[in-house]
Amino acid sequence: MDAFRAWTEVDLDALASNLAVIRRRAGAGRRVMLVVKQDAYGHGAVAVAHHAVRCGVGAFGVGSSSEALELREAGIRLPILVLGTIVEEELAACLRHQIHIGLHANDRVRSLAAYAQRTEQRARVHLNVDTGMGRLGVPAERAMALLRAVAEEDALELRGVMSHLAPPDGLRDPFAQEQVARFDQVLHDAARAGLLSGWVHMANSAGLFTGLTGSVRHGAFDTVRPGIAAYGALPAHLPGADELHPVIALRSRVVFLKDVPASSPVGYGSTWRSPVDTRIATLAIGYGHGLPWTLRGGEVLLGGRRAPIVGRLSMDYITVDVGHLPGVQVGDVATLIGMDGEEVIGLEEVAARSGTIAYEVSCALGRLPRLHLGGRDLPIPAQSPALRPPSGPPVPQPGQPSSGQRS
Ligand SMILES: *Cc1c(COP(=O)(O)O)cnc(C)c1O
Repeated sequence: MDAFRAWTEVDLDALASNLAVIRRRAGAGRRVMLVVKQDAYGHGAVAVAHHAVRCGVGAFGVGSSSEALELREAGIRLPILVLGTIVEEELAACLRHQIHIGLHANDRVRSLAAYAQRTEQRARVHLNVDTGMGRLGVPAERAMALLRAVAEEDALELRGVMSHLAPPDGLRDPFAQEQVARFDQVLHDAARAGLLSGWVHMANSAGLFTGLTGSVRHGAFDTVRPGIAAYGALPAHLPGADELHPVIALRSRVVFLKDVPASSPVGYGSTWRSPVDTRIATLAIGYGHGLPWTLRGGEVLLGGRRAPIVGRLSMDYITVDVGHLPGVQVGDVATLIGMDGEEVIGLEEVAARSGTIAYEVSCALGRLPRLHLGGRDLPIPAQSPALRPPSGPPVPQPGQPSSGQRS
């Protein structure tokens, strides 16, 4: 696939600005673990991670060991956590590259410890507590037992305790508050038993933007785990969305113009007929490039003006009614997501018109050729230290990116 037909542009300056907003919301000293799973939600994990390091991010969250290794191979030395779980075959690589691993079950404690002992390494783990997400994680009632099991294994190092929110609108949903209370209980019990060490983290973007910074008895959590907010979108129209800037743009080009008489059909199934004589522009992008096939009532920007997508999306092409835009020519760049002049089409807009979420739209664009823009003049602030050092052994703080130690 070449970058002349359909491509994305990733604005690293917008990313930096969003990360500044995130750090401000997180509060001084709280570590930002930027979630870069699925190739940074389609934005390109390596470039995003390198730039995020320069913006003071303190750790990365990924979805798999291969994503973690991709970052290591690209020279990222900050702590990396596989957020969910790994399959047994991923153990060796994770240990070799000092990747932190989410821990959710007793048999994983045993297999990790056995492997680590056999290979004379230590495994860095974060206990994942299921407080209501119902996906991964040890049920809150069994968290203490798992913590004890971890403590008994010399080859395991507890580097954090985490939980994950289920509601897309964070603390606005009473269910999230119940989750926080359950997590609070686990943290309280663990601290009392002297079993709590490492980072404490629960807030995704929705949590962060609805004020989740800690819990009643435990106090402040020292790490936040945002993803989508860094990429300029928020789930569920939460307050603060206007502080964020879109990072990804999706563009294509006009490859053909055709004048059609009124009532002539356009596209598969002839689902659309022009009510009047008009001009149809064919653009070299389709659902095969990651545009949702379910997009209805979609628009594109041409010369800073909106034009409706008409007829069904094809795999490689879409058709746009440009009857009201006489200046459009073959070769013109069209914007499907992003800014053009004063107009903007957001990820959320495309997601809403497609019956899906911004996350899925941006992930799907990861397959396109990508240009990274901006990102030149940036100070390199060190990640500030944790608010409140957790109990247990001191946790190394990532330093300047150039000298950032492995952890
Ligand atoms: C994806 C993910 C996040 C980030 O969620 P956003 O809604 O994108 O902020 C945080 N934590 C875990 C465990 C995740 O899987």
